[in-house]
Amino acid sequence: MSFFDTMLEDVETMAIIGHIRPDGDCIGSCLAAYNYLEEHYPDVRVTVFLEEPSIKFGYLKNIQCICSDFSVEAEFDLCLCLDCSDMLRFGEAVRYLNSAKKSICVDHHVTNTGFAGQNIVEAKASSTCEVLFGLLEEEKISKAVAECIYTGIIHDTGVFKYDCTSARTMEIAGKMMAKGIDFPHIIDNSFYRKTYIQNQILGRALLESITFLDGRCIFSVIHKRDMDFYGVTSADMDGIIDQLRITEGVECAIFMYETACREYKVSLRSTNDLDVSKIAVYFGGGGHVKAAGCTMAGSVHDVVNNLSARISVQINGDT
Ligand code: AMP
Ligand code: MN
Ligand code: MN
Repeated sequence: MSFFDTMLEDVETMAIIGHIRPDGDCIGSCLAAYNYLEEHYPDVRVTVFLEEPSIKFGYLKNIQCICSDFSVEAEFDLCLCLDCSDMLRFGEAVRYLNSAKKSICVDHHVTNTGFAGQNIVEAKASSTCEVLFGLLEEEKISKAVAECIYTGIIHDTGVFKYDCTSARTMEIAGKMMAKGIDFPHIIDNSFYRKTYIQNQILGRALLESITFLDGRCIFSVIHKRDMDFYGVTSADMDGIIDQLRITEGVECAIFMYETACREYKVSLRSTNDLDVSKIAVYFGGGGHVKAAGCTMAGSVHDVVNNLSARISVQINGDT
């Protein structure tokens, strides 16, 4: 019996949930599972609960079926949790996990807390889509499912350039290409294309970035008032941390934006042995060795000082 056959024994209703502010891997894995179920297990009634996805993922089949209303009262036989390392990061969608008869988590975060009944966590995998691929029957993967999986992989590997990319990642991507997907379109339109406003906020963040610890670290912050001025949301600031990361000489990049008064969503990236997942966990977040995040409170000055202290601990062994 395949993994899905076993997973769906005695299951008539099912919820699929992922993390808040869903990215390409989260949306890709949720819709890959949804479309695969629709095609091969039509008797199971499935709902995907996610915060509203960016329109740049509009080419993914059934994206319009995503339910972003978490006040919907429902209890499911199974809750499938994708691309999320801890229960807090589901936001309000966690209610469907709490009330489900059974739960399965498929993920790739090294910081995964093992909250589900069954946890399939591969910390070395590039993406949740890569882990999910291993649970599907390859010959049953349609072009629509392949588009979802490919999307997740390119977003979490930065189009095959982060070191989470393995030979297996490339092999899976190749298999998805063989299903006939329009990969240049997916790469350009969901990853690289920026609106005028997104370019402006990127420029602003780069212009105002500051280096510290002898140029080994860089940080930039976008305040709420600037987000309002440009009319941008968190999704519009996707590529900023990546541009900071590739600054010559930088070992650790920090990008943060204000989520509430004196509260910041912090993104961390490392270019060498520095383990930013440890720093993120220290401040109540999580992620991967080279890409992690957390939410921090205080002034910008406090936040950067606190992060800098933890970075120094790793770089210099300071205490
Ligand atoms: P980001 O900087 O938001 O792109 O996130 C980088 C990585 O860290 C992603 O894999 C996220 O899933 C993870 N991450 C970000 N923020 C958090 C958080 N607050 N808690 C746990 N994981 C996080
Ligand atoms: Mn994600
Ligand atoms: Mn992911």
